This record gives sequence, structure tokens and C-alpha cells, in this order.
Amino acid sequence: MESTYFAAVHHPSHLKDFGYPEVAFIGRSNCGKSSLLNALLNKKKLARTSATPGRTQMIHLYLWNKKLLFADLPGYGYTKSSRAISKRWPQLMEAYCDRSQVGCFLCLLDIRREFRPEELYFMTTMEQRGQSYVVVLTKADKLSKSQLTVATQQHKKNLASHSLKPYGVHSLSATKKTRLEPLLKTIVDLTIAGQ
Ligand code: GDP
Repeated sequence: MESTYFAAVHHPSHLKDFGYPEVAFIGRSNCGKSSLLNALLNKKKLARTSATPGRTQMIHLYLWNKKLLFADLPGYGYTKSSRAISKRWPQLMEAYCDRSQVGCFLCLLDIRREFRPEELYFMTTMEQRGQSYVVVLTKADKLSKSQLTVATQQHKKNLASHSLKPYGVHSLSATKKTRLEPLLKTIVDLTIAGQ
């Protein structure tokens, strides 16, 4: 398995067909996005956490196994008022999400937290656009086995109550590297398997 850094995109005009199917990773800062990227890419520090969450509008692309591009999206957009959902995504994010190369979106959430309005809004938009998204519940190792079952069920119920039907709901641990394989299988199914 070989993974390499591929490119950084700062502006919508730099977006193009990069020649590989893409998988987008999105989540609030501290949800464990860099850790999951590094675990899947099998590298210790290929993906780095942004020091100023939400401010830097930049997408980092990583080439996984010479087959897929993993895109690290810059979050849901910076809003000063945490209660207001930004209905206008930053230009770069809007342009990125609109591309046919993106086979699936991974919406990350720390399993101990609840989805925020901007996250529910993101998934609702994916749903309306007919784009596939997968919910990834991170840091599963922080919970006991029974807590994990309860939390996963609660998240599924909550998603259903918002009429959200993700392609899958995966709970995993990037640090312990547990349950990464089922997620990778889902990613492959949604992108390269049908080609
Ligand atoms: P990002 O800001 O979303 O990129 O989050 P990071 O990957 O930098 O992780 C934020 C914090 O959560 C760090 O202290 C990580 O070590 C920790 N973390 C990330 N994934 C896991 C996990 O699977 N299990 C545990 N226990 N901690 C994790």
C-alpha cells in the first residue's frame, strides 16, 4: 500500500479532473479527521491538523494506493455566530462538492458528540443533490462496548429523525486502527468497484 501527498487546492479555478475518483473527508476541527486520514493512508504524519481551524480555505489531496484521492475539506465554513447555520458555503467548498469526480463524502463526528446544525444541513444538501455520504463516528475506543452500541443506535435514530439516509454508519478508532477495513470497503464500493 502506497500513499503520497498529491496536491493542495486554494482556489476553485484550480479544481479539475485529477485523474482519480475522489473521496471527501469533512468534519469539525478536533473530530479526528487528520488521525483517520493518516490511519487509512498508513502514514504517521501525512495529513496535518490545521492550526487555525475553519479559517484556511484549502483542500489537501492525498493519493491512496495509486487508486483514489482522499480530499481533506476545510470544514463547514467559518461562522461567528455558532447558532446561525451558514447557508452559503465558502466558494471553494461549494465548487468542490459540485464535482462528479467525488464518489462519496465521509461526514466525521466524534462518537461522543451530537451533530450540529451545519452538519445536518450539509448532509441534507447531499441528500437533496443525490450525492452519497457516509457517517463516520470517530474515537470509538473512548467508549465501552455497550456504550458504543447505544451511542451508534442513538446516532442512527437521530439521522432518521432528520430523514437522513447515509450509505452507511461506521464507528471506528483511528488511534487503535479498529474497524478501518469495513470503511475502506464502503469507500471502494462507492468509487472504484463499479468502474
Ligand atoms: P482533526 O482536528 O479533526 O484533524 O483531529 P485530530 O486527528 O488532530 O484529532 C484530534 C484529537 O483527537 C487528537 O488529540 C487525537 O489524538 C485524538 N484522536 C483522533 N482520533 C482518535 C481516536 O480514534 N481515538 C482516540 N482516543 N483519540 C483520537
